[in-house]
Amino acid sequence: MTESAEHGHDSLSVVIPFYNEVGNAGELIAELHEALTPLTMPWEIVAVNDGSRDDTAAELAASRRRFGDHVCVINFARNFGQTAAMQTGIDYARGSLIVTMDGDRQNDPHDIPRLIDYLLENDLDMVSGWRKDRQDAAIRRKLPSRIANRLIRRTTGVDVRDNGCSLKIFRAHIIKQVVLMGEMHRFTSAWVASVTDPQRIGEMAVNHRARTVGDSKYGISRTTRVILDLVVVLFYMRFSRRPGHFFGSFGLALGAVGGAMLGYLLMVKLIMGVDVGGRPMLFAGVLFALAGVQLVTTGVLAEILTRNAPAKGYAVRSASAMHERRWKAGDSE
Ligand code: UDP
Ligand code: MG
Repeated sequence: MTESAEHGHDSLSVVIPFYNEVGNAGELIAELHEALTPLTMPWEIVAVNDGSRDDTAAELAASRRRFGDHVCVINFARNFGQTAAMQTGIDYARGSLIVTMDGDRQNDPHDIPRLIDYLLENDLDMVSGWRKDRQDAAIRRKLPSRIANRLIRRTTGVDVRDNGCSLKIFRAHIIKQVVLMGEMHRFTSAWVASVTDPQRIGEMAVNHRARTVGDSKYGISRTTRVILDLVVVLFYMRFSRRPGHFFGSFGLALGAVGGAMLGYLLMVKLIMGVDVGGRPMLFAGVLFALAGVQLVTTGVLAEILTRNAPAKGYAVRSASAMHERRWKAGDSE
């Protein structure tokens, strides 16, 4: 074993969002125990119940009683969405390594030790799972994600085939620098690439299983939202620290065209003494000049906004007492 693969001072937090996953939650936590027992590093599970209306909360509480305080349960005050749940779990996680996965048992806990080894042996900051043999119905789910993955690869240099796979591992100090909001959990590799070298983001083929209990929480409308999120990601990767350049360059170009039109009309009026009041160019010139001013000032506003930290997008109702949390293995606390 190489030195870096010896798990010297590493510890692991497994972050899982659950929304109406009764029948899956307890099973998954039991399965995680079976899969993670061989680990030599200390580990914990951070289960985030995203405002479930079924008995997920009770099932998670029972798992905590059964397995111990290293199973941390956070109950949201209402449903805030998968991204907010993942972000919360990441905020609460204490491990030096953080694994995220779905709570519906589609991801396989037995992949986790391999993900850890792959990350440490290759000295990476993030490894994304690749559902090589994806068990989801229909081309309508696979084709849009293929296009999105390719666009992300082009603009960010991140060589990840399957951004939609929730099973991922991160170094905690890297992922904790990123703020995930909205439904941006699908674009974590791009966000991580904004705080580390894209070369330090790898991928590994992982197992993917069909959902056996419960339903997918997303419908066909996901495709539109993925496209809109992609636009934001692509914009952000290039202009997050200088949005004024993005809006300003359009603004200056429009303003210049509008200014030239108005200048020309002014000359016509003054030199030739011709009336320009009804010329279409007058309207176009005024419109362009105004739009230009608007875009430049929008750019200034965007610059001001980027200097304000974003608010957190969730509220916690209860969390299992943090000071009582224990690691599963080799803990001295
Ligand atoms: N999820 C969540 N909040 C939501 C929607 C989903 O915590 O508002 C969880 C869900 O319980 C599951 C994971 O996110 O653990 C992935 O959801 P789902 O299986 O519905 O997505 P798909 O596999 O269809 O992409
Ligand atoms: Mg699923």
